[in-house]
Amino acid sequence: RLEIRNMVRQFDGRTVVDDVSMTIQAGQVTCLLGPSGCGKSTTLRMIAGVEMQDSGEIYVDGKLICDTVFRVPPERREIGLMFQDFALFPHLSVADNVAFGLKGPKAEKRARVEELLRKVDLIRYIDEFPHQLSGGEQQRVALARALAPRPRIMLMDEPFSGLDNRLRDGIRDETLALLKEEDTAVLLVTHEPEEAMRMADEIALMRDGKIVQRGAPYNVYTRPRDKAAVAFFSDIN
Ligand code: ATP
Ligand code: MG
Repeated sequence: RLEIRNMVRQFDGRTVVDDVSMTIQAGQVTCLLGPSGCGKSTTLRMIAGVEMQDSGEIYVDGKLICDTVFRVPPERREIGLMFQDFALFPHLSVADNVAFGLKGPKAEKRARVEELLRKVDLIRYIDEFPHQLSGGEQQRVALARALAPRPRIMLMDEPFSGLDNRLRDGIRDETLALLKEEDTAVLLVTHEPEEAMRMADEIALMRDGKIVQRGAPYNVYTRPRDKAAVAFFSDIN
């Protein structure tokens, strides 16, 4: 379970993330949805620990991992990351890419790598290199890599936007199934309402650094809070 409380971040005197609080349960996907520049990625980066908040606290399973004085470093947060431009390491095999964040005995690491590559249906590519795989296949390897250390929380920033439409639906569904199976708490950032409707258990609608509405996708879609929310959803049908 991920909980953030009263997160604030300013850049050059402008408040980009403005008192954002939310809780995400294990096995649940929350979509942070909003227009370009509203503060989604900044929120995610603070949770990942690569950006510091000006105020606010972050808890994982009830344990404080970051406030303005105490800070668990990013690599010890048990948080997995998947970003659009989070490329595979080109000089490492598929197996070594997936094993990258793993510690422990070789045999155990190998077993986990094989387990995940089977799940994403890419076991046949285990000894290939990234350039030998299609974009969609690379994305599935990236997912396997992110899940390998069994993160409690997965942060995803527009991870599907680099894929063509034909591939995207399949990979979205597969990703969702895998994340549920691993019981991960997921925070998925997107500016596409259609993606949020498809993926989310809960949508948090963000605007100008604030969460302006949250709820089940159907409820947010059918009962938008204000005109701006209506306009934002109007490009899906
Ligand atoms: P998009 O959908 O386009 O990715 P976003 O919601 O992810 O948008 P952020 O990347 O969080 O938006 O940026 C929010 C605002 O903060 C933007 O106006 C951006 O210019 C500003 N910003 C982000 N990072 C910095 C930085 N390091 N220095 C100054 N301004 C920044
Ligand atoms: Mg962004």
